[in-house]
Amino acid sequence: MDAKGKLKVMFLPFPGQGHLIPMSDMARAFSGRGVRATIVTTPLNVPAIRGTIGKGSDLDSDSEIEIVSIKFPCAEAGLPEGCENTESVPSPDFVPAFFKATSMLQPQLEHLLLQHSPHCLIASAFYPWASHSAATFNIPRLVFYGTGVFALCASECLRLYQPHNNLSSDSDLFVIPHLPGNIQMTRMMLPDYAKTDGETKFSELLKAIKESEVASLGVIVNSFYELEQVYADYYEKLQGRRAWYIGPLSLCNQQQDKGKRGKEASVDEGDILKWMDSKKANTVVYVCFGSIANFSESQLREIAKGLEDSGQDFIWVVRRSDKEWLPEGFERRTEGRGMIIWGWAPQLLILNHRAVGAFVTHCGWNSTLEAVSAGVPMVTWPVSAEQFYNEKLVTEILEIGVPVGVKKWARIVGDSVGSEALEKALKRIMVGEEAETIRNRAHKLSEMARTAVECNGSSSCYLTDLIQHLQSIARLQNCPKSS
Ligand code: UDP
Repeated sequence: MDAKGKLKVMFLPFPGQGHLIPMSDMARAFSGRGVRATIVTTPLNVPAIRGTIGKGSDLDSDSEIEIVSIKFPCAEAGLPEGCENTESVPSPDFVPAFFKATSMLQPQLEHLLLQHSPHCLIASAFYPWASHSAATFNIPRLVFYGTGVFALCASECLRLYQPHNNLSSDSDLFVIPHLPGNIQMTRMMLPDYAKTDGETKFSELLKAIKESEVASLGVIVNSFYELEQVYADYYEKLQGRRAWYIGPLSLCNQQQDKGKRGKEASVDEGDILKWMDSKKANTVVYVCFGSIANFSESQLREIAKGLEDSGQDFIWVVRRSDKEWLPEGFERRTEGRGMIIWGWAPQLLILNHRAVGAFVTHCGWNSTLEAVSAGVPMVTWPVSAEQFYNEKLVTEILEIGVPVGVKKWARIVGDSVGSEALEKALKRIMVGEEAETIRNRAHKLSEMARTAVECNGSSSCYLTDLIQHLQSIARLQNCPKSS
């Protein structure tokens, strides 16, 4: 413990919003329990973390979260200068260099471990070397994957049993072996890195990640036990590691300024609230594909047409500033019933407004869980990473969403979904008896999510257990550490 008897925990998030945001929320949750939290990141990501934790607002000096920045070795890894997070990677060709840069952070992290002497290191899974660094300093390391446990189980079953290697066609359906729920997928839906039969840089990284999990104290999952109970139980059997389900982390960070979550919103909060207030309950569709997914212009035009033809009110987040690709007259024809946010949206503010009736999402785990927490049904449009697994969870296990019908994993979205498919899915999720049933289910899950983070709720108990566990390890280390 430090001079005041406090546990000190260091957080090392992977530099992408999907990790930066939930790990900032997590630091808030720990600091709310009297833990001294230090978040390590690179200079470009400091303002986003600051915004997410609401630094300087309601936190007293004792529970202040410290942010320490380290240099991101862009030049050394062959990246353009300033390319310090996944959003700033100029094209998929630079992804290997980006991972190389993250692998070069180890000496700087170890220097900080020496300087700050925390009692525990919580690091994103993409830093497999973090378990070794923590062991060097004789402290436990916890792994944060940034995904739910269903996706962890699905990808582990695929990695272990490789059911997709002997199929005659990429579109043949196969069942994921040993995964509860009889989940069917095609080879086309699998991430590139899961499909490669031989050793590649990314499959090597995945192997290293699994080994580092074995060397860790366990896994922290941004989910709540009741949401993925079957898979939570299965994961511990499959991996033999302990897992703590302490989410939804967005609900543990109620104090933050929602307009600055992740990044400064590109729209005035007051304006958007006024617009949503003018709408009836459950009538607005919110469309947003996270912080990384890229869509071709022709695909964007199909989305525009689908939204227009559906007749539904909408808020659509488009992460670009040029408008030439918009269908002629689109903004005029949809004026009053549609709003485009050019850039970054205050997503939590929008999802939690009563006007929002559905969320067209790429199924990034944070977006998915934020929709669950807000009780908003989803139209699922997975793109890459583990998003096709999340789609299965939402549509087939939880039954709170309908698929738009994407068939292929892709780093850049071409013309995969026509406007009619979007229009059809929107009608299905917004109107009629099926929509009502799905909405009721979504509302129940939202209540369960809120209960989980309340006092004596499952997530709250997991967090208490984890902190007590770390405190007892710190005491056993029997070496007083200075703050
Ligand atoms: N987000 C946001 N505004 C946006 C886009 C995204 O606040 O305009 C937030 C969203 O609420 C979520 C995170 O960014 O917390 C995106 O994480 P997710 O796992 O959903 O997707 P990724 O960006 O990692 O693909």
